[in-house]
Amino acid sequence: MHRLTLGDFELTIFSDGTYPLDGGAFFGVVPKIMWSRKVEADERNYVTAGLNSLLIRTGQQTVLVETGMGNKLSDRMVKIYGQPAQLLTNLAAAGISPEDIDIVINSHLHFDHCGWNTVRDKTGKIVPTFPRAKYYAPEGEWQYARKPSERDAISYIPDNYDPLVKTGQMTLLKDGEEILPGISVKTFPGHTASMQAVIIRGGVCAEDETSDVGRSTSAAERPKNLAHGASRGSEEKRREAPEGRKREHEPASIVEETNNETTASFEMARLQAAPSDATKESGASAPEGTTACFISDLIPTTAHIDLTWGMSFDLYPLQTIESKKHYYAQSIPEKWLTVFTHDPKIPWAHVEKDELGKMVAKTV
Ligand SMILES: [Zn+2]
Repeated sequence: MHRLTLGDFELTIFSDGTYPLDGGAFFGVVPKIMWSRKVEADERNYVTAGLNSLLIRTGQQTVLVETGMGNKLSDRMVKIYGQPAQLLTNLAAAGISPEDIDIVINSHLHFDHCGWNTVRDKTGKIVPTFPRAKYYAPEGEWQYARKPSERDAISYIPDNYDPLVKTGQMTLLKDGEEILPGISVKTFPGHTASMQAVIIRGGVCAEDETSDVGRSTSAAERPKNLAHGASRGSEEKRREAPEGRKREHEPASIVEETNNETTASFEMARLQAAPSDATKESGASAPEGTTACFISDLIPTTAHIDLTWGMSFDLYPLQTIESKKHYYAQSIPEKWLTVFTHDPKIPWAHVEKDELGKMVAKTV
C-alpha cells in the first residue's frame, strides 16, 4: 500500500492492475539498447505498464483521480491488453465502496484512464460505477473523442464518458479550474492536445495560493471552485486558521511505503529548462511535502522523466518536451511529489536534479 499525508490531505495509490505495452512504442525514439537498461522486456518485446489511480481524502470529500482500464473492453482489446480490472477490488480491500467516492477526475479520456467511470448493469445498460460522484474531464478531450484521428481512435470508448455527459453527471473542464479547495487542474499538451494534470496543494492557505504553473495568479484570476455543495466556507476557515499555516510547513509524513530510499539516475537527463520569469516573480515556493501532481501521460513512469524520453503514443511529441520543461520549472524548485500513472513499481517520487545536473527520481 502506498499512502502518505500531504498537508491536510491523505493520498493513497490504488491500482487497476498491470498490462503489456510494446516497449518500442512506450519509449518512442529512444533505442532499445538504452531503455532496456531501465525496464525489462519479454520475448515479444512487451514491457509491463501500471494503472495507478490516486485517491485523495480531504477530510470532507473523497476524490478519485483516474479510473484505470475498467471491465468493458472488447474481445479484441482484451487480446491486446488483457483486462486486469482490479481497481474496485483493491478499493474494497481498503474499505472503500463505490458509494464513498464524491468526485472522479479524468486527466484525459483514453480507455486506460477512465475505464471504471461506468459499468454495465445486469440488463446491459451503462451506468455510473460511482453513483454519487461528480465526474470531471477536460472538455477539449471530449470534443476530440467525438471525432478522433484514425491514429488513436482505438483509445476512445464512448461508453466511458458519453452517458455521464448526457445526464449531466460529468462536468467538462476548460482549464485551470479548482475542483475543491486545494485540488485544481492544468492543461499540459503533448500526449493529447487537452490532457490535464491534477495539482493537489495539501497545505496551502487560500489567500497564499498565488502561483500557477508559469504565471502568477491574482485573487481575481483564481480558479473558480466548481464543486457544488462542497463546504468551501468551512475549508476556507480551516485554511485561514493559524494551525492551517503551521501545517503548511510540515513535510509529507509517510504512513506506509514499500520502496526503499533509493535514487534512480538516468542518462541523457540534463534539464534544459530554467524557471520562467513569471514563476520567479510570483515568489511562491511550496515547502516540500505540500504539493503533489498527478501528471498523467506527460511523464507516465520514472523511466520517462528525461525531456526526450516520450511515448510514441504522444500526438504532439514536441509539445510533450515543452510541457515537461514547463512542469519541471515549477515542480523541481517547489519539490512537488510527482505521481506516475503507468509506473508498475514507483507510483510517486520527487523529480530532482542531482549534482551533475542529471534528472533523478527520488522515491519517498
Ligand atoms: Zn493516454
